[in-house]
Amino acid sequence: MNTSTSWLTNLRVAVVGASVGGLSVANVVHQLGVYVQVYERSPKGFQDRGGAISAIDLVLLEKICGGVNKQMQADMNILSKNIIQQRGHFYGTLWSCLYNALPEDTVHFESEMEQIFVVPNAPLKLAVGEHCLEFDIIIGADGGRSTTRPYVTRKLPAYAGYTLYRGLCDVQYTQGPPCGDEQVNGVDYVTLGYPIIAGKSELLSCELYMGMPEESVHGPSLNRQVTDEADDFADSSLESNPVANIPTNHGEVHSFNESFIKEEKAIGKHAYAIRRRAVPNWFIPFIYQVFGEETAFFWSQCAKYGKVTPHTVWEFVADRVVNGRVILLGDAAHLASPTTSAGAYTAMVDAYVLGQALEQSEDIDTALEVYNEDCVARGVKLYQASRAKGSRFAPDGWDPVSPETLVNWEEQG
Ligand SMILES: Cc1cc2nc3c(=O)[nH]c(=O)nc-3n(C[C@H](O)[C@H](O)[C@H](O)COP(=O)(O)OP(=O)(O)OC[C@H]3O[C@@H](n4cnc5c(N)ncnc54)[C@H](O)[C@@H]3O)c2cc1C
Repeated sequence: MNTSTSWLTNLRVAVVGASVGGLSVANVVHQLGVYVQVYERSPKGFQDRGGAISAIDLVLLEKICGGVNKQMQADMNILSKNIIQQRGHFYGTLWSCLYNALPEDTVHFESEMEQIFVVPNAPLKLAVGEHCLEFDIIIGADGGRSTTRPYVTRKLPAYAGYTLYRGLCDVQYTQGPPCGDEQVNGVDYVTLGYPIIAGKSELLSCELYMGMPEESVHGPSLNRQVTDEADDFADSSLESNPVANIPTNHGEVHSFNESFIKEEKAIGKHAYAIRRRAVPNWFIPFIYQVFGEETAFFWSQCAKYGKVTPHTVWEFVADRVVNGRVILLGDAAHLASPTTSAGAYTAMVDAYVLGQALEQSEDIDTALEVYNEDCVARGVKLYQASRAKGSRFAPDGWDPVSPETLVNWEEQG
């Protein structure tokens, strides 16, 4: 550590949220010799969480983690292999790397931050469960529906006009994944598929983008722009989530077999009732109608053997990310469409920039000012990229039509 920054060693830092942003910044400040504790509301880690991250900067990751230790080696090998083979990455692999680079007992699960008490000329107080803990700096890396954000800015996220559904399925159950771009009433509907490796499993991942009216979507969530409903099962493994025998809307129990379209037509509209809580009854029929049988089969297999999660797209850029000693980082500071493929990356850059600012500044106020300027400027660029990318799914001035309205139930049988 630079001797001019020895003031850092006396700092006590709390991080709210243990996803990509929270763990990245915890690593960075830990390497500066700072005492850091991470509080995460989830009862467990995210090593098994699916979800594709299309690009990871391994050089940045190594810098953030301060190198690669023995525990991280296997995960780093998987990430490197994915890059060479031009595959997407499993979120859990990235998470494990960041988690395993930290000392034990740094991250506290089932620890939800409820409130921050700001008292002039005194340390900040962080209310976590029954505890009220004192810290010099609190970093909110608590995602799209950040609880920390109101302590820094009054600005709020805005709905981008479209939702993305993400499907994930083991290769043994389906082919593909499908890619396609269709227009309905002059607006784009897009499927974007790619393979990913998760541990020893080879998975197929697909994103489906479609415009939706705001009244039919969920607000920003506490995690990766996922709805709260999806949060409940987003972390469970593929195999532990069979969808056969899930009760339908009508209370009956319905199982699928492989000859999906035939069966769907035979049973009619009721067959489309919810396979998973996240799969609405219009979902497979809509895909069938717009993209055809092959794509509909892929999603049906995801619903049956893998998972399907809705991600309402919200956008946000903070006017400031520092207020006193409370700091925002990652999705709490800037929320962009997954089409930018840059949210996790930007959270990691935030962490790195904050670390550099702390290390190279003479005092804490200067360091936080440097971070604030840099993070807001990058957030603006990310927001602009997000707006530009999303205009094809929800053009300006377009009155969004619900996919449910567009389904022709008669044609579906
Ligand atoms: C489908 C999809 C695909 C994506 N693809 C990419 C991609 O290819 N590349 C890319 O760079 N980015 C991608 N992103 C974006 C990326 O996942 C996010 O930008 C990134 O996860 C943000 O990390 P974060 O740590 O800021 O927030 P989050 O990942 O949202 O994590 C916030 C954490 O805070 C916790 N938390 C919330 N409130 C509290 C509280 N009060 N107390 C304690 N803990 C709390 C939550 O439980 C959660 O663990 C994608 C996102 C989605 C939805």
